Amino acid sequence: MKILKFGGTSVGSAQRMREVAELMHAPHLQRRLVVLSAMSGTTNALVELAGLLYARDAALAAAAHLAQLRQRYHEVAHELLGTAAAAVLPYLDESFQTLHELAAEPLSAAGERIILAQGELLSSRLLHGYVTQVLGRPAVLLPALEFMRLGADGEPDAAAIRQGLAAALLPYPHEALFITQGFICRDAHGHIDNLKRGGSDYSASLIGAALEAEEIQIWTDIDGLHNNDPRVVAGTYPVRELSFDEAAELAYFGAKILHPSSVLPARAHGIPVRLLNTMQPDAPGTLISARTGPGAIKAIAAKDGITAINVKSSRMLLAHGFLRSLFEVFERHCTPIDMITTSEVAVSLTIDDAGRLPQIVAELQDFGVVAVDENQSIICLVGSLTQDANGSAHRAFAALRDVPVRMISYGGSPNNISVLVRTEDKVRALRTLNADLFEDIEGNHLSS
Ligand code: ADP
Ligand code: ASP
Ligand code: MG
Repeated sequence: MKILKFGGTSVGSAQRMREVAELMHAPHLQRRLVVLSAMSGTTNALVELAGLLYARDAALAAAAHLAQLRQRYHEVAHELLGTAAAAVLPYLDESFQTLHELAAEPLSAAGERIILAQGELLSSRLLHGYVTQVLGRPAVLLPALEFMRLGADGEPDAAAIRQGLAAALLPYPHEALFITQGFICRDAHGHIDNLKRGGSDYSASLIGAALEAEEIQIWTDIDGLHNNDPRVVAGTYPVRELSFDEAAELAYFGAKILHPSSVLPARAHGIPVRLLNTMQPDAPGTLISARTGPGAIKAIAAKDGITAINVKSSRMLLAHGFLRSLFEVFERHCTPIDMITTSEVAVSLTIDDAGRLPQIVAELQDFGVVAVDENQSIICLVGSLTQDANGSAHRAFAALRDVPVRMISYGGSPNNISVLVRTEDKVRALRTLNADLFEDIEGNHLSS
């Protein structure tokens, strides 16, 4: 079995859906399970709808917003399906009926999650309708809500997903094409939930792991994972090969092309992940596997919204157990730490979830003087740093000579050098690193 995930832009219009249907039927593909995102813009529109429903006196605006969304789907359905639209529209209208009902009463958090789930339900019904009704080809629509489960800890429950998928596939031993929804799932109580924004990548990887798939393909709107953020740096290029560890670090530290956790299930089962471009299907893209490609620093990513916390205490000098009790504060508040640097009398660390910051700071004040810096970004340089010992670190630090750096983390992993800068300096830092690490003086790409 191969898993093929198509992102929002890849299914963003009737024409794109036709192209995706063609890719799904490539002659070399045997059994495959297609994981779909919502059409681009839909999840944002649903988030906006929920926002209007939470706001008082926004009922009229919410109704107009909903009517507009329904109109868009009816237009796409007619364009994609022609006369077959009549058979598919009732399924789309199930979603709009649900949205209307939720819009008629005060919105709860559970209601909001049901709203967000409709995007993937709509896109999958549309594409399944096109494949079966217009192309006349067999395809099974598998409801993700029957098998994608979270455990009591809010994390995906791999065992339940494996069992649920096996049961969902059992009636179809001979079918070759399955279509399901990314992003959506049920929580431990059976209520509708999701895998957070961008979560369809994670769905694909979890499904691939559950089925011990041959390969997971993530089809998107760019030709692979680039060596730097193409949204702010010019002249970036796709990295052909990455190891699971390198890709996991890049995804976690902000390479938006992959959901932060999406490499982990594939890595645990050794399943290769291929990042491919729907707009350029023949481009080689990026292969993520147990192997890495040549070159020391392969790519750079950045993660915003970071808070740095510094604790200065003379009690730390020559003391043992100090760090443990300090970290326990973060553990008590279920707040993960990303970077740490220490000296004899101070510790600096970063968090990206500042939801419990006031409580954390209040407790840290028992240890010493606490300083907090918000609006920071972690810049993460990823590669096989052992391939050229200290050379990469030297070049990276030299490239950052004009950027104020708040923290540096090097040596924790052979794959990663992280630096913390103010978010306002991030783009400058990414560009200067790009110029010094990946381009020669004429601006040509360096191969390593
Ligand atoms: P999809 O809707 O297919 O899931 P996303 O928008 O989530 O697509 O991810 C693809 C986008 O990620 C690209 O269009 C690109 O702008 C952005 N991106 C950010 N960093 C990188 C990177 N290092 N390599 C490739 N794309 C990146
Ligand atoms: N539709 C969801 C989002 O926009 C999930 C995804 O596309 O991966 O975040
Ligand atoms: Mg995405």
